[in-house]
Amino acid sequence: MHAIGIDLGGTKTEGIIMTPHSDTLQRLRVNTPVKQGYDAIIEVIDKLVTDLEATAGSRCTVGICTPGSISSSTGLLKNSNMTCLNNRDIKNDIEAALDRPVLIENDANCFTLSEAMDGAASNFKLVFGIIMGTGVGGGLVFNKRLHVGRHHIAGEWGHNVLDDEGPECYCGKRGCVEVFLSGPGLLYDWRDEDTRPHSVPGLLKRAKSHDSNALEVLERFFQRFGKAVSTVINILDPDAVVLGGGLSNIQDLYTRGAEALGNQIFNNRYSTPVLKNQHGDSSGVRGAAQLWVAGNP
Ligand SMILES: [Zn+2]
Repeated sequence: MHAIGIDLGGTKTEGIIMTPHSDTLQRLRVNTPVKQGYDAIIEVIDKLVTDLEATAGSRCTVGICTPGSISSSTGLLKNSNMTCLNNRDIKNDIEAALDRPVLIENDANCFTLSEAMDGAASNFKLVFGIIMGTGVGGGLVFNKRLHVGRHHIAGEWGHNVLDDEGPECYCGKRGCVEVFLSGPGLLYDWRDEDTRPHSVPGLLKRAKSHDSNALEVLERFFQRFGKAVSTVINILDPDAVVLGGGLSNIQDLYTRGAEALGNQIFNNRYSTPVLKNQHGDSSGVRGAAQLWVAGNP
């Protein structure tokens, strides 16, 4: 049976058909009607599935990647930056529209599943997946199955507190990992507003030309990365860590970041590979399609 994956994003919604061998048969991309609101978003998903299924020629399983996650107590979507989805029974509403059960997971869980199934971490048993982009998220996959946890927050290291005197976080606490290790957080660490680079590539460019401020900001970033991930390693001791999101393109994370990590774990030897993702921006939609494989989650 073919699997349809849908990645619901803030500007675009993408859908693919995946064969049982993880090949992509078709990929469609449409604008997400955020302004038109919730009902229009459900309609767009319905239309994408209808169009993809016409190509597949048969009924498919459907998995969906959303920002935010389904609350295990209320069944409603929570923590989504697409606020029109919050506190809505999105699973039920999509199931009613599509007339079948669907599986829904957040982007970090879909990312980790995709990379653990047939991506950069496919040869490892316990995989900790990290997304560092506009926010910081994470997911856990053990033996190619997602572990979501009792509160459906497994792997959410982005809101562990790194420095309780740090900047405020939208979650209500101060100094979460996310306020330091997201793209905006990395730039904000450059204190002088007048000279602050406008983008992460801009910051990297200045570091390359030996700008001392840029080098210091990056050094703090690698040390914080090491400190934050080391707390996860000490508890789970995963077989691999795989990085996604825009900041995963910072090449020194795999050398200097990994070294800072190795120096801060509770062991005198460090061997956990820190891997760059293989599927890039497609990992969300691929992981969504793979949710039904082996009964995930
Ligand atoms: Zn937070």
